[in-house]
Amino acid sequence: MTYQSDDSALKHLEMLTPDEKVKTENAIQVITEEQAYNEAEIIPFVSNIKDKDYHVISIFGSQSSGKSTLLNNLFGTRFQTMNEQISRGQTTKGIWMSNRAIPEKNKNLLIMDVEGSDGIEKSEDKDFERKACLFALSSSEVLMVNVWENQIGLYQGNNMELLKIVFEVNLQLFQDSNSTRKVLLLFVIRDYIGNTPLESHKLTLCNELEKMWEGIKKPEQLQDAKFTDFFDLEFRGFPHFVFQNDKFLDACLDLRNEFDSEKIFNEDKYKISTKLPLDGWEMYTSNCWKVISSSEQLDLPTQQILVAKFKTKEISKKLLEEYKNLSKSLLEDFTGNYKAIQGLLDQTLVSFKESGGRYMESVYVEEKSSLLKEIQELNFESISNNIDQKIHENILSKNIQNELFKKEFVKATPSFVDRCLSLTKSFEEDYQSELEKYANLSLINQEQELQLIHNYTSYVKSVLEEENKKEASKLRKKINRELFKHLEEYLEISVSKPSENFWDDFKQFYKKTLSKILEKYIEVDGSFKFPLNFNEEETQAYIKELSNDNIKALNKSIKGISSVQKLVLILEEQYKNIFLSDPETHAPRMFEVMNLNDMETLHETCKSKCEIWLQQFSKGMDLTGVNSEIYNLESSLVARLLVDESSDSDASDLDEGDTIINELKLKRVLQEFTKKVNIISLQSRRIIVQSSMN
Ligand code: GDP
Ligand code: MG
Repeated sequence: MTYQSDDSALKHLEMLTPDEKVKTENAIQVITEEQAYNEAEIIPFVSNIKDKDYHVISIFGSQSSGKSTLLNNLFGTRFQTMNEQISRGQTTKGIWMSNRAIPEKNKNLLIMDVEGSDGIEKSEDKDFERKACLFALSSSEVLMVNVWENQIGLYQGNNMELLKIVFEVNLQLFQDSNSTRKVLLLFVIRDYIGNTPLESHKLTLCNELEKMWEGIKKPEQLQDAKFTDFFDLEFRGFPHFVFQNDKFLDACLDLRNEFDSEKIFNEDKYKISTKLPLDGWEMYTSNCWKVISSSEQLDLPTQQILVAKFKTKEISKKLLEEYKNLSKSLLEDFTGNYKAIQGLLDQTLVSFKESGGRYMESVYVEEKSSLLKEIQELNFESISNNIDQKIHENILSKNIQNELFKKEFVKATPSFVDRCLSLTKSFEEDYQSELEKYANLSLINQEQELQLIHNYTSYVKSVLEEENKKEASKLRKKINRELFKHLEEYLEISVSKPSENFWDDFKQFYKKTLSKILEKYIEVDGSFKFPLNFNEEETQAYIKELSNDNIKALNKSIKGISSVQKLVLILEEQYKNIFLSDPETHAPRMFEVMNLNDMETLHETCKSKCEIWLQQFSKGMDLTGVNSEIYNLESSLVARLLVDESSDSDASDLDEGDTIINELKLKRVLQEFTKKVNIISLQSRRIIVQSSMN
């Protein structure tokens, strides 16, 4: 039920609370006259509160001691006072609450007033008083203790009994906890005349509290506890409400400012009180009241944990449901894009932090991890229900492999081995961390993760081998192109004169040239500069191939001059070079002064020199040891790898016809050659004949 105050009272209150920014609403009953927790009013009351930051303030003191009057004047609340009761003829017993909202600070002061029954003390009322005190203590940051100045220092009277209750209740509340929660006991000294300094009242009250604290039976674990471990103390004096009304109102204004500015709440202290978020307050106080009214022992921290657990669970359930709905289509049509799912998960956890993070840290953390687990389970179930393992692997592999891997390998530059190794490592790391993202979302399980890593590693290896082979053959071709070019040039020049050592010289040149080229690719220590990633066996095979190719280049260069036409030209040139000029002096022959016989002899000599050369040439080069020697000499590593003599047999692999000119061809060359040189000698004969006629 809601209490509506009458107009005259309102007028009075409005005068006292001129601040229009502050709003108070009609009070609700938290605990009804029948001592029931009034859920029906509390739930809408709490959910209507806009700013969720709040402080709870209660007042405690004997009946008709002016508590409601003070609260109304302090906070602009409209709690029923005895004066109204007289005019209305009825007060309503219970615990009341009103909200003083301070929008500019986004704060609410929730004020609780206890209305006992007046008149003769009954044990039933005592019981309610005690319960109300327990309730106020369990839910408030500030408990105002209403005492009359003239009763301070007197050992009897209601006050002391109430304080004793506060202490006892307190021990009950903090049974076996070393909670850091502290309550501020704010003594409001009523009808304070001002003659006695507040300090001295403070001393007196503290002494009384101390004595009383000692006298209280404490549980084992709290034997050494001091009352200041549980309470902070503050004292304020209030002049007589009727006789010194102005001063009373001034004192109210002062204290009100302390509340509104939150000066009175020592943030440092009350923050660690792990205050419940407002949305858990209803549940918490409801539980407290349940325990209080069933006279069970009340353990506040346990109550707070219970509420935190319930509330965070409730929030996480809601968020899980939302996640389920939002992720449904993503998971059903999963195409490997974990990012959308990650985003959704992150958003869920952020929302959970916003609502659940306000509850007790440990409870929040625990619930967060179980929420995460549930989401992961959901992910895994949805994915594995919808996607067959193979497709699953394909998606992941393709995504990662295609995007990153091949492109980089193709781009790669010198030092193939280093590049491959570092790339392989970084790809594998990237892949693994990529997979972890899937695993964290439980899109794959550990077994799948391991399998995928294994697949990826073998994939990388195969790409690497492929690339390596390409690189190796590129290099082989490069070496042989260079070799061939040099051999071709050499032959072009060297065949111009018939030399008996033609093959030996050519062999020497070949070896020298090949060694020189290979030097570029072999380190001083004998290891390959070849930018390849081979093991020993592969290196050996590679060298064999390289050696074969060298011989092929050699053969090709020889083949280039081995056609009938070319050989005839070569022989003709050789002949001219020795017949027409002296090979020693390079001086042209003076046929004019030569006799025919000498000329004929010269012709035969030159011709036969050329023919001998051709005979020698046609036999081909003796390839024995040509390469093994080179590789052996140039590199210890290569030597080690090329131990077998088989590389010598490279030559035998080759078709003989490639290097050796057959009989038929030889005949044709000689025929052509003879024709040509006969013409030349004929010309010389003419010159001699002509000159002899002159
Ligand atoms: P409550 O039962 O403690 O809430 O007391 P009320 O606020 O209803 O007031 C009880 C009576 O005390 C009323 O008749 C008030 O007029 C009177 N009263 C209120 N404030 C003061 C005060 O500061 N001094 C004195 N002497 N009487 C007061
Ligand atoms: Mg009252």
